Amino acid sequence: MNDQLNATHDPNLQSWIESANDPQTDFPPQNLPYCVFLRDGVRRIGAGIGDRILDLFELSAAGLLPSVLTEPLQSTCLNALMGADLDQRQALRAALCGLVTDRKSALAESESLQRRILVPQNSVNLELPATIGDYTDFYASLFHATNVGSMFRPDNPLLPNYKHIPIGYHGRASSIVPSGMAVRRPSGQLPPAVEGAAPTFGPCQNLDYELELGFWVGKGNRLGESIPLSSAEAHLFGVCLLNDWSARDMQRWEYQPLGPFLAKNFASSISPWVVTMEALQPFRCEAFARPEGDPQPLPYLTDSRNERSGGIEIQLEVWLSSRKMRDQQLPPTRLSHGTFAQMYWTAAQILTHHASNGCNLRSGDLLGSGTVSGPLRESRGCLLELTWNGEFGRPVPGNQRTPLALPSGEQRTFLADGDEVIFRGWCERPGMRRIGLGECRGMIEGAI
Ligand code: MN
Repeated sequence: MNDQLNATHDPNLQSWIESANDPQTDFPPQNLPYCVFLRDGVRRIGAGIGDRILDLFELSAAGLLPSVLTEPLQSTCLNALMGADLDQRQALRAALCGLVTDRKSALAESESLQRRILVPQNSVNLELPATIGDYTDFYASLFHATNVGSMFRPDNPLLPNYKHIPIGYHGRASSIVPSGMAVRRPSGQLPPAVEGAAPTFGPCQNLDYELELGFWVGKGNRLGESIPLSSAEAHLFGVCLLNDWSARDMQRWEYQPLGPFLAKNFASSISPWVVTMEALQPFRCEAFARPEGDPQPLPYLTDSRNERSGGIEIQLEVWLSSRKMRDQQLPPTRLSHGTFAQMYWTAAQILTHHASNGCNLRSGDLLGSGTVSGPLRESRGCLLELTWNGEFGRPVPGNQRTPLALPSGEQRTFLADGDEVIFRGWCERPGMRRIGLGECRGMIEGAI
């Protein structure tokens, strides 16, 4: 499984940048996630190391990075780098790793270079890392799909297509925002209070988050051509945390027959760091074991490599901080924790399925995994599941509508104005250096 590890994954690597050696840092030299940050009003491509950012424009201008990547590295977004050949991407990672770990590297030995190239993370704003042409959201957790289905269709929770086809819908790229940007409560059509009555228009009353992973498309495919599963991994560039904010009341009223629309496209937040597939290599695992009796996927969605190493062991957490909690100086409280290894469909299957009809994917496109939920209550990735649809669900045997109790004494069924939702993600495995995805934050502002 780990025949693809190289010197950049060596758990013993240390950096001369001290903050990168902190055991709890998300950004040791084994990670080197990419980002786009604003420096003196100009967008620059960077790489995270400890509590610093390497300015890759400056590093490239100083002649310290592979010259074949000069144009992508001096660009203002990551799209061109995402579309670069795999061997060039690997060469860049190796060069960066050498610069931050070798005490005799050109960067380690020159204080004037360091002043130009090492930027404190807390001194700059991180932007969206790429120009996102298209965004598609999937539904790859069997646990999420079964939970949600059993609230709305107790007799028929899982639709018959689920175990054969990765379910998805086209989302909207224009409203994807970086972590830290406030999210305004949407208004929209709300379902009739009683069947047969008229709907109303007003602020969403059932605002929710969805804990997801976003996959950045690397090299794309031509219109009319597909991507076989055997080469799907090479078309993936990296991952981020993704919050697919969801207006459940609007969703309930609008989703049939064409799927989600305005309940989903008012905002989606992403973490600004792009953790590469190469950095994730030590944390690959078997694809989710399909329960006994489940159908095998069709041949275009199955191969031995995907079964052996299509999964990724990423720990994911959701935290919440209400306005009252902040007023009382209470720290954020953890709502759930789970792992990405429990997703029914792998990223490679999702990407291959997306392109299977000849739909062209482009560098910088974003694919959402769908809500990451596991089998346990504490691993449910949205409030709809955690509170079992708040006040609106039909009772399901064995599950109770259960508001969450916050440390401030407040209760939540769905999000209130002033609530801040924080996602965290990281990978750890014995014998490997822990790496992190950073955070994805968003605070709810009241409706206009
Ligand atoms: Mn979603």
